[in-house]
Amino acid sequence: MAMEESNSQSGWKWLCRQFAEEVMAPHVRRCDEERAFPVLVHERAAAEGILNAPFPEEMGGGGISCAEFTEGVAELSAVCPAMTWTIVFNRGALHPVLNAGTPEQKDLFVMQLLKLNGYAALGLTEPENGSNLLAAQTRAIKTDSGWLLNGAKCMSGNGTVADVFLILANTVVNSRKIGLSFFAVPRESPGVIVSQDIEKAAFRCLPTPSVAFQDVALEPINLIGRAGDGEALLHELLATIRIGGAACGTGLVTALLRDALTWVGERRVYPDDRMDTLSHVQLTLGRLYVELCGARKLLRDAASLADQGLPFGKESSMAKYAATELAVRASNEILQLYGWRGIAADYGVEKRWRDARALTIFEGSSEIQLLNVFREMRRTAASEEGL
Ligand SMILES: Cc1cc2nc3c(=O)[nH]c(=O)nc-3n(C[C@H](O)[C@H](O)[C@H](O)COP(=O)(O)OP(=O)(O)OC[C@H]3O[C@@H](n4cnc5c(N)ncnc54)[C@H](O)[C@@H]3O)c2cc1C
Repeated sequence: MAMEESNSQSGWKWLCRQFAEEVMAPHVRRCDEERAFPVLVHERAAAEGILNAPFPEEMGGGGISCAEFTEGVAELSAVCPAMTWTIVFNRGALHPVLNAGTPEQKDLFVMQLLKLNGYAALGLTEPENGSNLLAAQTRAIKTDSGWLLNGAKCMSGNGTVADVFLILANTVVNSRKIGLSFFAVPRESPGVIVSQDIEKAAFRCLPTPSVAFQDVALEPINLIGRAGDGEALLHELLATIRIGGAACGTGLVTALLRDALTWVGERRVYPDDRMDTLSHVQLTLGRLYVELCGARKLLRDAASLADQGLPFGKESSMAKYAATELAVRASNEILQLYGWRGIAADYGVEKRWRDARALTIFEGSSEIQLLNVFREMRRTAASEEGL
């Protein structure tokens, strides 16, 4: 098979490029318009080993590094960031289990899921608490046999297809709130109610329903890590998933620039010149390329630190901010270069422009990334690693 060949010849990045162009691309327009989860693409992603690639080999995954993961996400996102997110998000959602789960929990919530090519979804955001996750109102109260979960989450990516939800909740023991904790909640648990998907302008093929928990009885095995450890796990989780968001941004901008170069090389404009002879076009594309190279560098730095097991929270915030803000700017400026075709569905720019708009919001908005950077900047200002 061609893809197996490309995998062995040129590695993971090229496998993802080929998969994106041959398998994803034919489904992008339909899945966006119909707001449809890309079932056929997922079947192929599972068959090609892409679905489980970011998990450790001993758990049934492909064992790719974080640096390889970002390269693959960028390649897939060049074709469709939303479809990419449906494919790669299991790794982010299950991060708390990989990070703090017992061998039994890893077997139950990760390895069994990978065997079935199933899905995990993350429940952090609540209707009243988005950026301020520490204020979670979802509560898990300690009972004689385990925990009783009540509350509601919204915008849970892949939630309509998920087999298990990783839920952030306030834990209450003997009527005393003892902090945040993560729970792995199987979808079939009585009291888990997944609503219909919401309609949105961007990331349309990624289902993001609300999920309610009404007196959901959980056993001790459903608590990931110790009760009250959730805040530390949350910071590590967010640092990890925003690397993926940054890679979505660089992939999207790469594709915009690639297509724009062809477009301005062919299109003739008043008085009768090719667009790429106009200095403002050259300056725009040149500047966006410089900014893309800067964002890629930040992303590589963050992924490299993650692979070395070093702290990468500030670096992943910088990468996510730079790449996703660039995606918004680049899609807006490049859309203008296409004239009416920029807003017509047939030319692909319009969808990238819409999807880019979600990137600066999900996984912590741009403002939250800047606050993270500022806090770290202030903390280290007087030290050698500071300014
Ligand atoms: C495509 C998509 C997929 C998503 N998937 C998931 C998922 O799988 N699981 C999940 O739990 N959530 C998910 N989300 C939700 C997302 O994580 C939240 O939308 C995001 O964290 C922001 O929260 P909010 O929308 O409630 O905004 P709010 O927190 O209400 O913030 C509103 C605005 O105020 C700004 N703001 C907030 N606080 C400050 C401050 N202190 N200083 C300056 N500005 C501030 C924010 O930046 C934002 O611009 C997804 C969102 C999208 C768009």
